[in-house]
Amino acid sequence: MKTGLTIAGSDSSGGAGIQADLKTFSALGVYGMSVITAITAQNTVGVQAVEEVSGNMVGQQIDAIFQDIPADAVKIGMVSSANIIQVIADKVKQYNMKHVVLDTVMISKSGCHLLKPEAIEALKKYLIPSAYIVTPNIFEAEVLTEMKIRTIEDMQSAARKIYEMGVPYVVVKGGHLEQQDCVDILYDGSDFRYYSTNRIDTKNTHGTGCTFSAAIASHLALGKSVEDSIDAAKQYITKAIEKSLSLGNGVGPTHHFH
Ligand code: PLP
Repeated sequence: MKTGLTIAGSDSSGGAGIQADLKTFSALGVYGMSVITAITAQNTVGVQAVEEVSGNMVGQQIDAIFQDIPADAVKIGMVSSANIIQVIADKVKQYNMKHVVLDTVMISKSGCHLLKPEAIEALKKYLIPSAYIVTPNIFEAEVLTEMKIRTIEDMQSAARKIYEMGVPYVVVKGGHLEQQDCVDILYDGSDFRYYSTNRIDTKNTHGTGCTFSAAIASHLALGKSVEDSIDAAKQYITKAIEKSLSLGNGVGPTHHFH
């Protein structure tokens, strides 16, 4: 059985974070494992509280897994602070982790800072260079590159800048651009590939970024190429949004078992 690890935050409402990642692994036939970086008290309406796990405990969870069960792919989501970033980056090196997909989670759709703003430099300096693929959305790509992104050409420039930070593959997700189609772009240092789908009219998109990056990691674990993994993950997240659930009073979750 292929194995996937998520290093991320817990979402008590089950729509995003660790819970979304484990559901994605299961739906795609990958054995899921988790390292929890932070616990959030959260529902579809918002994030009510966040409690960070200590860097030492994050490291110990990673040690426990890698000294026993190697992960075929690793997804990294909410990392919360510079201290946790440093621990994870060191462990990625120590265990020579393969297929590390970094979702550069910063702020939840409900507006909560899931990454401390002062940790952004550590993300750029330590975690992005230790990843195999990074998957920023438009907002995150703007923060990482300090540029405004309005067009596909801007997305390409941002992808080039992020690539220069030392990561082999950059996916800039275009879902937040104001245009009809949702176009994600992949940059590998020389060429661009484009992944386009129609926009789905729903407010229930809680956990979409988490699910997409976990689906990429799952397909990498299953042995697909980077290009095919992103293609398959795009199809998976599109279906998960199409079938998303009107649960709760706010932004409902995507759905995993179709
Ligand atoms: N909560 C946690 C723990 C997460 O890791 C994420 C992922 O980005 C979110 C919330 C954000 O969810 P969304 O912005 O999709 O509502």
